[in-house]
Order: sequence, then structure tokens, then C-alpha cells
Amino acid sequence: MNEEHTRTLLDAAPLLYRRYGKGKPDNPFSCWGFLCGDGWFDLLMRLSARMEAELQTALASGRRKQDLPQVSEIKEKFGLLRFYVNRQPVHWGDWIEEVKRESEKTCELCGRPGRLHLGIGVKTLCEACAKHDGWQPAETRRPDAVSTNLSGEAYNVFVNTRPLLLLNPRSPAVEIAVPPEYLPAVECMVDRMVAALKQLVEAGQSVDELPIFRRIWLDHGYLNIEIEPDSFLNLPQETQDEFDAALADASGV
Ligand SMILES: [Zn+2]
Repeated sequence: MNEEHTRTLLDAAPLLYRRYGKGKPDNPFSCWGFLCGDGWFDLLMRLSARMEAELQTALASGRRKQDLPQVSEIKEKFGLLRFYVNRQPVHWGDWIEEVKRESEKTCELCGRPGRLHLGIGVKTLCEACAKHDGWQPAETRRPDAVSTNLSGEAYNVFVNTRPLLLLNPRSPAVEIAVPPEYLPAVECMVDRMVAALKQLVEAGQSVDELPIFRRIWLDHGYLNIEIEPDSFLNLPQETQDEFDAALADASGV
């Protein structure tokens, strides 16, 4: 995001973006700001305005500033806009999802109608921007199959053979909602993640500090995994990188 757009967003939502520039290692946004192209500026402005309005109301009604939600990370991933908030109110999840769906058809560079392209990775681009930078249109993503949870028995086998998935005492049951043909890729991905966690535990990390897995599911034709953001960001950087790599490999990116 260029400087002018960054400044406009920060001015429009000073509470939401209050960690900007603070350089806290546990908060990627505070270090890196808006990690996406300027084509998504309008989407971000709309989302920021909605969130900021609620934050201002909460502050005016006496809530303490330090208890209010704040952005922890904003980035592009698999051609989609990802937006993470600490202490996120549940209904914000719908707003974030709405904007993510729009980013899927909006050129990340210029904001014109776009679609998924392949180059160095994947990106959502319009025809002109893709041509300029040598990206090729990707096949249209398959619409997500109606994802159902694994059957009880398959679920038990999956989780019981990977206890580190749920070892954190704060972890609820992880939801696994992928069509059966994706299961081998999911197993491979999770095994890599579990191996990385095992190293941490063997090196003395408390199980309380392991990530809290919430859900593994198919998102726009890609595997995705939802981990409670703070619990992920507390992991050492190399473990976070291994998680990202395992996810990218499982998704065939
Ligand atoms: Zn474009």
C-alpha cells in the first residue's frame, strides 16, 4: 500500500490501527502495516470505517481504549485479502468475510475487476496488470463443495493420532470440514505442523503456549486453517514459517 493510501487509512481509523508503527514482534501490522496492493484500498476503507465507528462509540460509552479490538495483521494470501483483529467481535467476522469475497474479484494492483492469476505464486489481477507483469490466468476456482465435518470415527482417528493438535488446555475441539478427497493433503499438512510443535515441546515450551487450532476447511478451493491469532503469533518465527509452508504446499500453491 503506498504512503498516501496508508496515511488515509490511518487517519480514517485511528483506534483500529493504533498499533501502526509500534514495531511489536507479536503484531505484524505494527511492524509492516498494510501488506497488500493499492487496488484493495477502497475495500479496506469501507471495512475500516465500519469498524472504527463501533470503536468510537465504545470509547465514548466508557470502554477502556486498551480493551478495544485492534488490527494485528493485514496481508494478501492466495490472492485474497486477509484481515486479522485481536479481540475481534464475532459479527466483524462477517464483515471481513464480505471484503475477502470482494477481493477475490478485484485487481490487487489497480482496483479494476480482476480474477486469479498465476505467476510467482497466485494473485488476483485484472487483465492489463497481469499482462504487464507476465501473469497467466488461473483456472477458475472450483466452487467449494459443501463441506461436512469428518464422520465421528474418522475424526477420532485423525485427532487421536495427532494429540498436539488439541494438547493446549485452552483448545476446543478442532473442526475439520473438508471433502474426503482433500484428506490426504490435510493429513500431510497437519503432520508437518505437529512435527514443528513437537520440537517446541521437546525444547521445553509449555503446552499452554501451543497454538489453538479452531478449524481446517476448504476456502475458495484452497485448504485453509484457522488458528487463534494471538496463539499463532506467539510461536517462534521459524515455526510460523513452517506452518505457512505446510499450508501452501497442501494447497498446491
Ligand atoms: Zn489491475
